[in-house]
Amino acid sequence: MTDLYTSDDEIFALESKLSLLEGTPRLAVLVPLAWHLRQRNCERSKLLADEATILLTQASNDDVWFRRNMARIALIHAEINWLKGELEFAEHYTNEAKQTFLELRDKVGLGDSYFLLSSIKRDLGDIPERDACLQKALEHFLEVGEFERHLICVARSMHNSAMRDPQLTLQKIVQNFDNDRNYPASVNAWLLSAKAIVANKIGDMGESCRLHILAHRAAFETGQIRQAILTATNAGDSFATLGDLDAALEWDEIALALARNNNWPGSLATALLQTGNALRLLHRYADAREKLVESLAVQTKIAGSRTYAHTLCYLGDLAIDLSAPEDALGFFQSAADKIIEHNEPVFLSDCWRGQAIAYCRLGQAQEAQEKIRDALKIAQDHHNLDEQIKCFRVLAELAKRFHTDKAEQIAAPTLNLHYLLKAYDLCKTIKDITVPADLLDDIANSYADLDDFQSAFAYAKLSAKAKESRRLVDAQNRAVALQVKHDNERHRAEAEHLRRIAKSEAERAASLQESSNTLETLGLIGREITANLNAEAVFESLHRHVNDLLDATSFGISLLAGDARSLHFVFGMENGELIPPFTTPIDHPISSFARCAREREEFVLEREPGTEGRFIIPGTMETLSLLYTPLMIGDRLLGVMSIQSTRPHVYGERERSILRTLAAYGAIALDNAYAYKQLQATLNTLRETQNQLEEVSITDPLTGMRNRRFLLQNIEADVARVLRFYEDQIQAGEAVSPGDEDIVFFMVDLDHFKSVNDTYGHACGDMVLIQMRDRLQHVFRESDYLIRWGGEEFLVVARSCNRRDAPTVAERIRHIISSTTFKLIDDIEISRTCSVGFASFPFLPTQPHLLSWAQVVNFADQGLYMVKKSGRNACIGISHTSAEQGEEFYNRVMRHPQNAADNGMIEIIQQKTHSLDDTIMPS
Ligand code: GH3
Ligand code: MG
Ligand code: MG
Repeated sequence: MTDLYTSDDEIFALESKLSLLEGTPRLAVLVPLAWHLRQRNCERSKLLADEATILLTQASNDDVWFRRNMARIALIHAEINWLKGELEFAEHYTNEAKQTFLELRDKVGLGDSYFLLSSIKRDLGDIPERDACLQKALEHFLEVGEFERHLICVARSMHNSAMRDPQLTLQKIVQNFDNDRNYPASVNAWLLSAKAIVANKIGDMGESCRLHILAHRAAFETGQIRQAILTATNAGDSFATLGDLDAALEWDEIALALARNNNWPGSLATALLQTGNALRLLHRYADAREKLVESLAVQTKIAGSRTYAHTLCYLGDLAIDLSAPEDALGFFQSAADKIIEHNEPVFLSDCWRGQAIAYCRLGQAQEAQEKIRDALKIAQDHHNLDEQIKCFRVLAELAKRFHTDKAEQIAAPTLNLHYLLKAYDLCKTIKDITVPADLLDDIANSYADLDDFQSAFAYAKLSAKAKESRRLVDAQNRAVALQVKHDNERHRAEAEHLRRIAKSEAERAASLQESSNTLETLGLIGREITANLNAEAVFESLHRHVNDLLDATSFGISLLAGDARSLHFVFGMENGELIPPFTTPIDHPISSFARCAREREEFVLEREPGTEGRFIIPGTMETLSLLYTPLMIGDRLLGVMSIQSTRPHVYGERERSILRTLAAYGAIALDNAYAYKQLQATLNTLRETQNQLEEVSITDPLTGMRNRRFLLQNIEADVARVLRFYEDQIQAGEAVSPGDEDIVFFMVDLDHFKSVNDTYGHACGDMVLIQMRDRLQHVFRESDYLIRWGGEEFLVVARSCNRRDAPTVAERIRHIISSTTFKLIDDIEISRTCSVGFASFPFLPTQPHLLSWAQVVNFADQGLYMVKKSGRNACIGISHTSAEQGEEFYNRVMRHPQNAADNGMIEIIQQKTHSLDDTIMPS
């Protein structure tokens, strides 16, 4: 499992790794990266977490793996919510994650959940729960041997207790941590912070400042930004106590800048609070008030936290300074109420002391006494020297103001002096603190009031010395602060340097990836562009890819005319609008398209806005970066392609090489398209010729009817369909009944045609044959085949026909021929008759394969022959009977149709409708 916190280097490593991955494999980096960015960059962290969620839901096939990642993502969301002060959401998400980790028996996840829960409880002001959760986290980590996490927890618990109980904390630090050992920065962020607070509380301010700064650095480097802000404000506080208000303000500013940048209410409130206090100490009361009020305002969501009480306290201090004791009392009382809830006695002494001062200024001696005694007791119990000194000074003020009588056991002449001297004695025990000159002045004044001028003079001298040495101390403090600051800046500069190297590495990796991506993309694009066989599609494809890959406000292609003397601007787009076509002579003096065509070299133009003398396509925008590249196939110029942008200096080597590649593909594609167009034209001509030939070969040249060839080409398909129809019926066991699926063959022969030729000439015979087509077309459907079978013999194939209609149709043919005259040359009209024989396929429906279609045609011919024999101008059909037939059936029918009919093998259908008047005898 990934660490609780990690270094910036690791972040950069993860970032570069991520940039190389695509699809599901990104998950392996997305989740840890989102985790480690949770405080460094909440927004990016959330984005990555969301991407991971999507990928997980798409890719999940391992339940445990899926749930563990989802729980980790929930924890990321929880932490971000905590930082933003959305404590309810934070708690909800954490519990959700915690539950999943519990079910998966994932102790690390469980520990991390408790660790976060501890932070949430802190902001909710629930100190016992804060500690309990941290304890649980610590135990889980210890159980699974997560020692770094465990140490972080231990250090954090030191940090938590340092304020309340500096002495005990110091003992615990010594017990748990080895002073000589180098701990990881993640641990130091808490350990050094705990040590710094202890140092502050026991009066070692210089050390406190140093440690806070180191803790800040450790926190910042490990992405514990919330802790980094807190340690910076604590550094500010220690500097303020040290008396270096400049340094205090500087650290407060660092904290404030970080907090404002992230806009986390908890951190922002703390930073504002400390800044406000430093400003107050600098007597910048209005600024101080502004900061403190803002601090209260940002804490509306987290009003239960300790910081809120702290802010109230500082507002109380400010009210005292502004001589508004009533306001001060109110602030201190509210603060105390809150602090009692938190069980933080050290802090409580602060509030009570504040109340005592307020009561004192309000003239309420009794209340003031009670509060200051309570405050002092806490300060003493907790060995807080700084606080004790402050309490003694309040006691001194009380004694003086209310003229309290001298108590018995004290050595000093007055109670006021007694307390002042106690404060003085304590001051002398604290390292790094020069006795405040105003305390010495107070003592001197008190002695003077008692007419003890010798003592007064002695303390006045000490005060003067203190003031003098104060300057020295100030200088020294500044030197310490400067050293720490310098260290820190150097360190920060180094870190920044490393960060920059890492960043440029990451960028290099990303750009390598980008160019390899680009290459890969270009390969695909190339295939796509060259797959187009039509110039328009090539233009559009080029334009689309140019827009995807490059900054191009406008895009244009000019092609060289056939005579190579002009360029046709054939395709142009500007902001999605088509640029109309136009023509430019190739020797145009200022057209850059013409120049590129002449030079056959790519070039970039950079323009200043409003450049004179340039050729701008009418109605288009003025562009500042222009890139032109020739479209070439070997030495052959096809045209020029250009992209242009309204932004300056956008076409570097990368852009040029992309456009160059696109131009190469484009040229090939356009050349292909041109060649293809030519080929297409040739093919079309060929195909037409072939079709014509084909048509000729299946058409009778005289009549325009189909010929035998046509029938041979087409009949098989019809036969197959009909056979399927009958086979299906037979297979289904149904009684076979012919429907509208039969093919009926009608053989039509003009009677005594020879005589037409003989009488009127061959040409007139031809005219009769030609007119036969109309007659037959009149009787049959368009889908039927009209075939000139021989000289004056026609075969009509009626498809999808019902055989029961066949005799009627045959008669209709006979009738139309005999009843309509044929026109010959010189308006001569003659009448003719015809004979018709017919038969249907399949001949025998119950045995559809008994005869072939050709044999059925022969039966129709047989019928025709019988008509001729029996006197012409009639129709005879040969049809089946219900009898089943064997192999010899065809031959027997062909040999003796009449016998076959007599034997019941076939039925001869004879229409006896003709009369003598329409019978034409041979002349
Ligand atoms: P039947 O009633 O027995 O069919 O007598 P017919 O004269 O029609 O038959 P026959 O087979 O004896 O003669 C067919 C004639 O058709 C012979 C030929 O001169 C004529 N003929 C064949 N093809 C053409 C043609 O393309 N043009 C012209 N004008 N006559 C043709
Ligand atoms: Mg004939
Ligand atoms: Mg004939």
